[in-house]
This record gives sequence, C-alpha cells and structure tokens, in this order.
Amino acid sequence: MTSCQMFELTDDQRALRDTIREFAESEIAPHAGEWDETHQFPVDVVRQLGELGAMGVAFPEEYGGLGAGAVAMTVVVEELARIDSSIAVTVGANVSIAGEPVLLFGTEEQKQRWLVPLARGEHLGAFASTEPGGGSDVRASTTTARPEDGCWVINGTKAFITNAGNELSAFVIVTARTPLDGGGTALSAFIVPNGTPGYEPQKPYRKLGWHASDTRELVFNDCRVPDEALLGPLGKGARVFLTPLDGGRIGVAAMSVGLAQGALEQATAYAKERVAFGAPIARQQAIHFKLADLKTQIEAARLLTYRAAALKEAGKPFTEEAAAAKLFASEVAVRAAEENLQIHGGFGYIEESAVPRFYRDAKILTIGEGTSEILRYVIARQMGLTE
Ligand SMILES: Cc1cc2nc3c(=O)[nH]c(=O)nc-3n(C[C@H](O)[C@H](O)[C@H](O)COP(=O)(O)OP(=O)(O)OC[C@H]3O[C@@H](n4cnc5c(N)ncnc54)[C@H](O)[C@@H]3O)c2cc1C
Repeated sequence: MTSCQMFELTDDQRALRDTIREFAESEIAPHAGEWDETHQFPVDVVRQLGELGAMGVAFPEEYGGLGAGAVAMTVVVEELARIDSSIAVTVGANVSIAGEPVLLFGTEEQKQRWLVPLARGEHLGAFASTEPGGGSDVRASTTTARPEDGCWVINGTKAFITNAGNELSAFVIVTARTPLDGGGTALSAFIVPNGTPGYEPQKPYRKLGWHASDTRELVFNDCRVPDEALLGPLGKGARVFLTPLDGGRIGVAAMSVGLAQGALEQATAYAKERVAFGAPIARQQAIHFKLADLKTQIEAARLLTYRAAALKEAGKPFTEEAAAAKLFASEVAVRAAEENLQIHGGFGYIEESAVPRFYRDAKILTIGEGTSEILRYVIARQMGLTE
C-alpha cells in the first residue's frame, strides 16, 4: 500500500466484520450494561468468541489461527468496542500482548502448549510488565528471577494485569530481572502457568471503566518455574515486551475507533429524536457541527489504524504509525465519549443507558499500552528528535 492509496476492506474482511457486528449486537449489547454494573467477567461470551475464531484471526493456521492478518484483527476489535470495550480489551490483550510474544519469541514447544489453545479460544493468556512502582519506565522493573537448581525463582508484584485471574486464564508472561554473568541484571521474560505454587493473582480491582474486564495485581512469592519457562533469549525481556507492544497499540487504536464510532452513533440517534425549542437538537448548528467534526476525526483515526495494521501485515516497520494511530484515536475516543454525554444532557449522566459506560471506558485508552505522553516520545524518537 502506498501512503496515498485508498483503503478498502476486502470481501473477506467485510464478511468477518459483519459476523462480529452481528454477534456483538445480539449476544453482547443486551447484557453489557448488567456486566458493567455487576463488574462481571462474562466467561461464556468470551468462550463463544473463541469458538467463532476471534482470538485466532491474525495467527497462522499452523498455530490454530485463521491466518487472516492484522487488518482483519483490527476490524474484530473495533466491532467489539463499538458495543463493549471490556470485551474488546479482553480479546485485544489476549491476542496482542499474550499470544503475539509467544508467536514471535516462543520455542516450538511453547507455541504448541500456549499459543495453539489461545488462538483456538480454549484459554486466555496475560502479559505482566507493569509494577506498582511504574509502568511507562519498563526498565525500572524490580521483580526478580534467580536461578536455583535448574529452575528460576520469581519474586515481585505486578500491577493492573489484564486476563490473569478468571477461569479461562492459563498463563502469564512475566518480566523479571535476571543476573548477568559479569554482574548487574537485565530483564528476562518467563511463562508462568496459572496454578503454579507462589503465583498468586489477587482479587480484581474496582476500576473507573472496563468493569467487565479482568484486571488484577499479581504476586510472585518464591514462584518456581523450570528453565523451559524462559521466553526469548535470557536478558532480552525488554525486547519480548516492547516488540509486541507496537501491535498492541494498533489494538488499542482499534478499540478507540470502535468506542468513538459507538458513541457517535448514540449521539446522532439522540440528537435526531430529542426536541428542544420546537425542533430536534440535531438541527442546531452547535450540535451538528460537533457530530460532523467527530465523524471526520473518527474516519481519520480509522485510516491511521488500518494503515498501521496494513504495514504490520506487510512485514514493514510500523512503530511510528502504531504510536500515531493509538495517540490520535484514543484522544478522539475520549472526545467522542464526552460529546456523546454532553449531547445527551442530563440523561447522559444517568446510569440507564450505555452513554456513561462509554464515557468511563474511554479514558484508559490514553493510558494503557503507552500513555499519550510516552507515545509522543516514541514518535519524536522515530523523527530523530530524541534518543
Ligand atoms: C485497566 C488496565 C489494564 C492494564 N493492563 C495491563 C496489562 O495487561 N499488562 C501490563 O503490563 N500493564 C497493564 N496496564 C498498565 C498500563 O500499561 C500502565 O498503567 C501504563 O503503561 C502507565 O504506567 P503507570 O500507570 O505506571 O503510569 P506512570 O508510568 O507512573 O506515569 C504516570 C504519568 O506520568 C507520565 N510520564 C511518565 N513518564 C514520563 C516521561 N518520561 N515524560 C512525560 N510524562 C511521563 C505518564 O504519561 C502518566 O501521565 C493496565 C492498566 C490499566 C489501568
């Protein structure tokens, strides 16, 4: 794809989008409000999405996937977020920060054991880098793994980890400091199966949004794993984390586009029906300018997101494009959620529609997988402006 080429989905991508849209509208939309209110992780729906193939869209067929590529995966996440961001992040994080590192850095045995069931939707994986002491500064991690009798013994605490403690959770990839031969330490990554003694997922956080997603603190207390648990080369854990993060940012950009699209549709429908001063509020220029601006910004966000995904799919560099898509799309999502609430007036503030849920769900998009501030550094670095 050249930079000025028009972007159109293929027939297969459109068919997949329609399948996921239909599923989201019929199986998720009617229950999303209740899951949000009760902070309930909907195991059955996540399982059904797995059966539909949603977890394996972008993974190669030899590893249980559909081999349909990164653009198709983007479309899936976007469609889910149009209805429910909690489900979208459950799928997006499972695929991009748990499945992708195993695909990129795993041994054949690790791929068969962890990636194949993940791609088939039989279990979920998690990735734990963030610690209570910091998330943006990956290298400041204090969790340790020390070698002992042919095993690694992990100690430390990880914060805000998605998909680690529900009944579908099977493993977490954890980054930890390992000793270097000449002294000092470096980050390494390990795959820790759920149920390993000393690996203790805590109870779910109570969050501002994403109530139906599974987010927990994880404690590692003399957690012992065999040498085969090492994922990627010893001392290269930062690479195991940061390489898939570019793809993860496309996922968050897709969630942002989907949430913004859903918010725009809600706002447009309400503006057409709500009458004030004798006419639908949509007729007021102050309102339809808001909606026209949002439509334009969402389309721009979508194009940035699809472009980053298309570059990934083509095997080309996409670090800057993924950062730009995530930065722009997440800020559009926050704006769309806020304008949606504003257009709904007082009704928007009442927890009886999806409007406040979308508002609460939007904010994390500018924080997770690289805050807006950090993404500006990433883009500036790609521009040669900083180290
Ligand atoms: C619901 C949820 C799910 C999550 N899921 C996961 C997961 O599955 N796995 C995982 O590992 N993590 C996960 N995270 C963590 C998330 O990735 C981090 O919260 C994020 O990276 C920011 O890290 P932090 O919260 O420690 O903030 P900090 O890094 O402490 O940053 C605080 C503020 O300072 C700013 N800042 C930091 N450094 C700079 C700088 N150099 N220049 C300018 N500004 C700076 C940041 O932009 C931010 O505004 C999740 C978080 C949440 C809330």
